[in-house]
Amino acid sequence: MRAAVLHAVGRPLVLEDIEIDDPRPGEVGVRLTAAGVCHSDLHRASGDWGDPGTVVLGHEAAGIVESVGDGVQGPSVGQKVVLSWLYPCLECRACRANRQWLCRATRALQHLQPDGSTRLHRSDGTDVLAYLTVGAFGERAVVPAHSAIPVDDAAPDDVCCLVGCCVSTGVGAVLNTADVQPGSSVAIIGLGGVGLSVVMGARLAGADPIIAIDKSEAKLELAESLGATDVVLAGNERATRRSILNATDGGADYVFEAIGLPATIELALSSLAYGGAAVLVGLTPFDTRISFDGFRLVDRSQRVLGSLYGSCNAATDFPRFVDLYLAGELPIDRLIEGHITLDEVNDALHALQRGVGKRRIITY
Ligand SMILES: [Zn+2]
Ligand SMILES: [Zn+2]
Repeated sequence: MRAAVLHAVGRPLVLEDIEIDDPRPGEVGVRLTAAGVCHSDLHRASGDWGDPGTVVLGHEAAGIVESVGDGVQGPSVGQKVVLSWLYPCLECRACRANRQWLCRATRALQHLQPDGSTRLHRSDGTDVLAYLTVGAFGERAVVPAHSAIPVDDAAPDDVCCLVGCCVSTGVGAVLNTADVQPGSSVAIIGLGGVGLSVVMGARLAGADPIIAIDKSEAKLELAESLGATDVVLAGNERATRRSILNATDGGADYVFEAIGLPATIELALSSLAYGGAAVLVGLTPFDTRISFDGFRLVDRSQRVLGSLYGSCNAATDFPRFVDLYLAGELPIDRLIEGHITLDEVNDALHALQRGVGKRRIITY
């Protein structure tokens, strides 16, 4: 199959022919239909998160099951699925407590199947990793069966693939991690695919006001169309903080940070109401330190919440978000800039790095 391969951090992806094994017991083979280009691909490609070795990047994907290994109870051949980039082991303490996003027995973060191997190889037999075991920048994937989540056939492929990462990360942060209640004030810093998904989630939760903050006028306009009640063109930190405080009567109940920069994380912490929570959704480079006023945090009974993958259990949350789209309550399609081919993936990564435009979707 054709795939976009990262050979060395900081270098463009290279399109190559890669061999893919049949699924082993407990695994399924998926023909991908759509893949998003996400910031986590960029972090990996640029070396922010170390050097994984030779890897097919991409982790936000939808497809159709075309083969199943022995012992697979579901999904079945022909089903439309969204892939989770954090397959759960289903046996550890977190998984047994139905908190699959906390599973650390998974080997997904090492880009390996549960048995420690990879299904991708070059023609000379050398192994190639699939990023987070998904490897969405390839035409096919072999994944553990319980990370291929069936969703309603009626939903378009491009919408479905976004549920695999940015929508679940953003909407889940609002509904699961923070459990935002109607009438709460919410501010969102950074309006990439995840930040815009936070806006949609805040609207769904009945938050008011919803203050969207970004450096791009176009993204502010889009946020308004998705339910933001106020928009703030990000300037210097003091001015931005003042705008948040003014719009929320002195501080927001929730500030979501969807970039992963120390300055904006500190802005989130310093823009909270008494009793407010900063919800950190954006991933930073490894070993990033954040500082805040310890006395103030305690004195104001404030909280800092980290939120990975929107605290989602893919098996239940993915179909739920797809159904909300079909019911007209999560306008996921508006996050999409347009469709591209796999050959254009490097251009899409550059555009993402520059913060230009919305989500670009590779269609296969
Ligand atoms: Zn992602
Ligand atoms: Zn587990």
